[in-house]
Amino acid sequence: MITRSRPDGREELAADVRAAIRDVPDFPKPGIVFKDITPLLSAPALFSRVTDSMAEGAAAMQVTHVVAVESRGFIFAAPVAQRLGVALIPVRKPGKLPHRRLREEYALEYGTDALEMHEDALGVGARVLVVDDVLATGGTAAATRRLVERAGGTVVAFTFLIDLTFLNGRQQLAGSPVDAIVEY
Ligand code: AMP
Repeated sequence: MITRSRPDGREELAADVRAAIRDVPDFPKPGIVFKDITPLLSAPALFSRVTDSMAEGAAAMQVTHVVAVESRGFIFAAPVAQRLGVALIPVRKPGKLPHRRLREEYALEYGTDALEMHEDALGVGARVLVVDDVLATGGTAAATRRLVERAGGTVVAFTFLIDLTFLNGRQQLAGSPVDAIVEY
């Protein structure tokens, strides 16, 4: 696991984020504790601190593109891309993107799902920050990294609001720095 010292204010931010996340047991199915981020989105100052922190963490990485994972990743990725002054690239569920696409499948508990990205979204040498709300098993993020690499880019870091560490998602992302504001 990659650890790094947290800049000033990160502990306070983490505590405030933790207080703004609502646990919803048995959603969307029995046994899952869903991390509901909507209270955080309703707190504009806190929401800004979160995306400031995500952007600050990547400020020295020469990021050229922020890749946003559908759908809650979009909410955080758009302000981060604007703060960094770089392109925002959506990774979407199948059938949503209109132009020529790359596609990567990934395993779910039962069956598979897939993600797509426009094949011309990045260029060779693109330095990508991947943004999503929750790191769970890591399947979504790992499939996103494969899309980035097939499109000619490199993932320089992943940043999440929440890491559900008991699901060991970071194992699937070995080789790339992974940051999360709060861990459970
Ligand atoms: P995974 O591919 O297992 O890492 O799952 C990550 C995706 O599923 C993220 O895009 C999350 O939005 C969503 N997700 C997984 N588990 C949860 C959870 N307990 N609460 C909220 N969202 C979750």
